Amino acid sequence: MTQKKRIALVAHDERKDDLKAWAKDNAETLKQHEIFATGTTGKLIQDSCNLPVNRLKSGPLGGDQQLGAMIAEEKLDILIFFWDPMAAQPHDVDVKALLRMAVLYNVPCACNRSTADYMVSSELFSKDYNPIRKDYSGYLGRFEENQ
Ligand code: PGA
Repeated sequence: MTQKKRIALVAHDERKDDLKAWAKDNAETLKQHEIFATGTTGKLIQDSCNLPVNRLKSGPLGGDQQLGAMIAEEKLDILIFFWDPMAAQPHDVDVKALLRMAVLYNVPCACNRSTADYMVSSELFSKDYNPIRKDYSGYLGRFEENQ
């Protein structure tokens, strides 16, 4: 992971204001990195924080899955995902899958303001950092052994 990070921002509707406030407070830092976001979150951040954002599809239309795929391809360094703990989502399976990818690939993932604050104020945020990735290369091997 280089100094310039590829950061994903996602927020469910009831948490969009929280993410907007966090992004505004940290806009100067975020400007030094590359921002990706699901469709609606991305537009909000672009318009309110004047930040360039690579917008993907809206979450319920596949945006979360696009981010999950980016993590699997090691094209995303940080996930800031303010999901709503008080409302069921139509794309709940996608939300779960995205969070699973973040854990699987040891991608730093903040789901609330405090964690995002800790993350952005860490010296690692703007330093080279190589997350330790568990070696799953034997996983396919085990499958093949049983064939
Ligand atoms: P949105 O998607 O930014 O398009 O609202 C967020 C989500 O629900 O994953």
